[in-house]
Amino acid sequence: MRLSALKNKLISDKTLVSIALVTALSACTSTGDKLVDNVANSDMANVDASQQLTSSDYSKKSGGVAPIRQHGLIMQYADLHFTVLPDTKSLVVKSKLKLTSAKPTTAVSVDLDRVFQIDRVMVNGSVLPASNYSNPNGELQLNLLSEVSGEFEVQIDYQGKPREAIRAPWDGGFDWKKTKSGEHWIATAVQGEGCDLFWPCIDQPYGEVQNMDIKITVPDNLVAASNGVLMDVSSNNGQKTFHWQTSSLHNTYAIALNIGPYDVLESIYKSVFGNDIPVSFYHLKENTEKSKVLFEEIPPMLDFFETVIGPYPFGNEKMGVAETPHLGMEHQTINAYGNNYRKDEFGYDWLLHHEFAHEWFGNQLTNNNWDHMWLHEGFGSYMQPLYTQYLHGDMAYKAHLFKQRIGLINKFPIVSNKPLAVEEVYNRKVGPGNDIYAKGSLILHSLRELIGDEAFFDATRQLVYGTTKPVPGNFAPRFSDTNEFISIVNNITGENLQWFFDVYIYQAMLPELIMERTEQSLTLRWEIENNRPFPIPLDVSINGKVRTLILDEPKTIEVSRKDVVIVDPLSKVLRHQENIERYKAYLKAQREMKMAEFNKEIKKAEK
Ligand SMILES: [Zn+2]
Repeated sequence: MRLSALKNKLISDKTLVSIALVTALSACTSTGDKLVDNVANSDMANVDASQQLTSSDYSKKSGGVAPIRQHGLIMQYADLHFTVLPDTKSLVVKSKLKLTSAKPTTAVSVDLDRVFQIDRVMVNGSVLPASNYSNPNGELQLNLLSEVSGEFEVQIDYQGKPREAIRAPWDGGFDWKKTKSGEHWIATAVQGEGCDLFWPCIDQPYGEVQNMDIKITVPDNLVAASNGVLMDVSSNNGQKTFHWQTSSLHNTYAIALNIGPYDVLESIYKSVFGNDIPVSFYHLKENTEKSKVLFEEIPPMLDFFETVIGPYPFGNEKMGVAETPHLGMEHQTINAYGNNYRKDEFGYDWLLHHEFAHEWFGNQLTNNNWDHMWLHEGFGSYMQPLYTQYLHGDMAYKAHLFKQRIGLINKFPIVSNKPLAVEEVYNRKVGPGNDIYAKGSLILHSLRELIGDEAFFDATRQLVYGTTKPVPGNFAPRFSDTNEFISIVNNITGENLQWFFDVYIYQAMLPELIMERTEQSLTLRWEIENNRPFPIPLDVSINGKVRTLILDEPKTIEVSRKDVVIVDPLSKVLRHQENIERYKAYLKAQREMKMAEFNKEIKKAEK
């Protein structure tokens, strides 16, 4: 095997591991035309000069503690005009931002990667001298000539080569790829690093912008798909400009450019709630037949979400999908899809379903801090087994959950109750990592078993929409966190279930059930980190007869050797299980062995 082929295989194996973990575990005006002309003649030497800088750690992080210049600052509106130059992997951008400051100030900032050269900054229509702004570290700091308070406008023109994604969507940026036929195929994916990798924003979960105009100018053989509604397409000088408009709060990292030789499949979905929802699927022309099959999966998925959770939140914009060179991402109203039209044993495309789930859990409901990311990913990952149950019943549902069960880490709590950057959540050396996916999902399964379907789905709707009776028009995108979810659950059930969340969410270790069986008896007790109370009802089946125990203290029941005893026969309670730990250890050893073999072969080939 050749070295490059070997390395590719190694990379694809690593990708597969990640995929498995995730599974176990998303009218150009005349001014615009002038811009296009300018871009065609632009001095690319300037663009190259900007490449001496790489993205700072500040730019590569998203969220965490906000810089002081952004305190009290809100972005209401952004008009972004990107001219994308695929041959040089660069951008020329004109941006106009409407900001509001809660206090009078002359010192404000927006986040924008320092790889870009700033051509001009204007504040309320006047040019800001270059000495009044600087961007050494990815925080573009503006010293205004006069104090602003309330609403003000900032225009920033910039250009350069945006950070290239190393392994989108996990290590993000611009993904510059080519299709089989050799045409440019480009996507952005910046969940981990944030919006500031390509547009000036407030790179915090709360930095969502109410309304945006996104204009994308591309070579005219390509199509640019983005968030919201397509207002207009115009042509000029061998280029096309696609004008997209959003009219709802969009997650900052969910703003995305998808560019390729696309065809589009379109239909209108008749909502369960009576409204019409436009559905668009931008797919590569070479995948037309496969994409038609996938397109047919969308209406039943929408039926599921609307019946089980509630109305599709962005029905007045669209339900959109764009085929991307990377696996996928929950880009609002334009979900990135790159799962190669694979089907699994559950009969649908899990990736499309997972990203789509984020329209409810992530885009409609957004965590107010990345620390609560499990509200996006735990619910997002629980929706696939739930859909499996909706389609095929209990066997498939529990099989799906069991697959998720294998991937748990249990090294750090799901939530630590302090402001975290998204990287800290995903870094398994300091944070929960992939536990926000599969463990979150399994915790929700146990919660549903504990409180019953009615309370569980009411609490979910209250969390997502702020009401248990959502209908189109009576809700708007909202922010929430784990504490609010706990109080919603307590209110709806009329019980104090803090103990449940204390054990599962705020502590890393899973509850372990200690069972001691003798010739005459079985003694059961919980071993819980920090000896916290864990009064969860536990079913025990003895020869098929089920009794329910609350182990607030060790309990002994009389059983003989002949009795068939099954603890938790319906798998309601997530707990430590030695058989799973042993299997995980076996899988880890296999992976390490394979990795060592690959490394050996690579060394041999290099000689
Ligand atoms: Zn997700």
